[in-house]
Amino acid sequence: MDTSRSADLFRRAQALIPGGVNSPVRSFRAVGGGPHFIRRGSGSRVWDEDGNEFIDYVGSWGPLILGHAHPEVVEALADTLAMGLSFGAPTAGELELAEIITGALPSVEMVRLVSSGTEAAMSAVRAARAYTGREKIIKFAGCYHGHADGLLVEAGSGGATYSVPNSAGVPAAYAGETLVAHYNDLTSVERLFEAHQGGVAAVILEPVAGNVGVIPPADGFLEGLRSLTTREGALLIFDEVITGFRVAYGGAQTLYGVTPDLTCLGKIIGGGLPVGAYGGRREVMEVVAPLGSMYQAGTLSGNPLAVTAGIATIKVLARPGVYDGLESVSSRLAKGIAAAAAETHLPLAINRVGSMMSVFFNSEPVVDADSAMASDRVRYAAYFRRMLEDGVYLAPSAFEAAFVSTAHTVGDVEYTIGAAARALEPHPAQ
Ligand SMILES: *Cc1c(COP(=O)(O)O)cnc(C)c1O
Repeated sequence: MDTSRSADLFRRAQALIPGGVNSPVRSFRAVGGGPHFIRRGSGSRVWDEDGNEFIDYVGSWGPLILGHAHPEVVEALADTLAMGLSFGAPTAGELELAEIITGALPSVEMVRLVSSGTEAAMSAVRAARAYTGREKIIKFAGCYHGHADGLLVEAGSGGATYSVPNSAGVPAAYAGETLVAHYNDLTSVERLFEAHQGGVAAVILEPVAGNVGVIPPADGFLEGLRSLTTREGALLIFDEVITGFRVAYGGAQTLYGVTPDLTCLGKIIGGGLPVGAYGGRREVMEVVAPLGSMYQAGTLSGNPLAVTAGIATIKVLARPGVYDGLESVSSRLAKGIAAAAAETHLPLAINRVGSMMSVFFNSEPVVDADSAMASDRVRYAAYFRRMLEDGVYLAPSAFEAAFVSTAHTVGDVEYTIGAAARALEPHPAQ
């Protein structure tokens, strides 16, 4: 495969942009080699600057549930584009997206649009603190909620109540306000509530974890968090930046039937342009300025182009049969890869919820961050490189989801299964 143009661009980018990339997940450090610079996408495919074609399972890390350059999204954007780019004044499109979101997610009675998932999670936490008058929050090891200071925190090795920043530059005092529990382990949450009685403003989690690879919630986990937070007077925040409009039209809260107090959205609701949102119970959202005393603002919040792309995307998703189609194509992919793995006797743990899935090189079930991290990264890197050579573009990290879009055909999936069978062969015939 010729990668000379990408290699040249990457060399130049590294001199000007840290690591040559504007988000670290784009770098190929975890899998070796340099990133492919992507020139264009259409449907399930992307083409790099050297003209190589790939079936894409990154989907811009989640937003592109309709695939690349969906004609209805592109057409809606062209209409909006001609009307002006941004006004810093309310527009009808923002109201339409708010109506769509509150209609799809029954727990969301009021919603505020922002420009990224990071802002959505950061603001939801602030709203929870403003509403409860408490300061501590509980998050889960392995869950990602964007890069706000207080959310870049992991459990220290010393015990359940000891938290450390997982980025340089985050003050230890901020990290100390964030308590870290174990995913799918209610007891670890109970212990934190006991140690900080009356001090916890909120529990925030991804209702399906998607940032250490895909980890579904165990039976009773979300329900248990709901009753625990209610009992303790803390808010339950679902970060549905990935799962909103992905695992079901109404997100994970509809799929699992558990109602959070606040919800964070992003990715799909911007259809590939920068948007985020946070919303929830009316009395909680009434703390947000200018109604209430919690400040949060944004020059480009609810940007006309971004809401147009989101609305056009969600309108397609609202049509009958869309999620059934995604489920059947995604299930075929997961089963095909599992069958290919069984042939080669390679232990794989495949986790999938609808159109988000992960293939872990792991002989044990993956149920939390620790079991995910026990997966074989070296094997994943080899698998990733062989898949790429064969024209399948997966996430360049063992701990990310693969996303299926409505543009992925049965033919794409059958090709991918064939490529996986070759990539899983211990000694490929060259
Ligand atoms: C991607 C993501 C975010 C951050 O969104 P950005 O738009 O990248 O800031 C927050 N939470 C979850 C669950 C995400 O997957």
